[in-house]
Amino acid sequence: MTSEISQMNLEQLLEAIRTCTRCALHSGRTLAVPGEGPANATIMFIGEGPGFHEDRQGRPFVGSAGKFLEELLASIGLQREQVYITNVVKCRPPGNRDPLPNELEACRPYLDRQIELIGPKVIVTLGRYSMARYFPGQSISRIHGQARQVGGVLVVPMLHPAAALHQPQWKATIEMDFKKLPAIIAQAERLSPAEPPPSPQQLSLF
Ligand code: SF4
Repeated sequence: MTSEISQMNLEQLLEAIRTCTRCALHSGRTLAVPGEGPANATIMFIGEGPGFHEDRQGRPFVGSAGKFLEELLASIGLQREQVYITNVVKCRPPGNRDPLPNELEACRPYLDRQIELIGPKVIVTLGRYSMARYFPGQSISRIHGQARQVGGVLVVPMLHPAAALHQPQWKATIEMDFKKLPAIIAQAERLSPAEPPPSPQQLSLF
């Protein structure tokens, strides 16, 4: 199945997610939440997993965290329709608990293929679980807002908007990190896709 996923086009991939039974999360979902945005988006945001409202609507970031994300995007002149938004697990964990390692692993090929097909130049990870995909063992409080080059992509870890929303200090932190994005996007546009560096490398610019 993993090899089948790696051959799918975007439409097939989204449909496979909607009917997926690869992990136990499928049994409690109302709707899977594959993700949404332009098929050639320059920026991709990767959150954790669907919450209550996302599970009901089948769309990512539609509750209060989604509204905050839209405000953050607006603060740098972007609308959510211009970016791709998805999560590391596509079905809601019961009671909004953290996703389990086996669930993250089962869902990983979908996100791998999504990234491959969309080919963003900047990936913003929102929260610990998507950060760990690129920077395992790192502390988000230490590396948030710092762009690092991973292959031909700049990856920027940020706090999760849901966590930041009600904590004044964290809210200010994510707002400041978002302000760095236009410069990071401009930097990413200048990177050649053929450029090698395979390992995360911190850019001194940011
Ligand atoms: Fe499939 Fe991912 Fe949903 Fe698990 S969380 S059932 S792997 S789509």
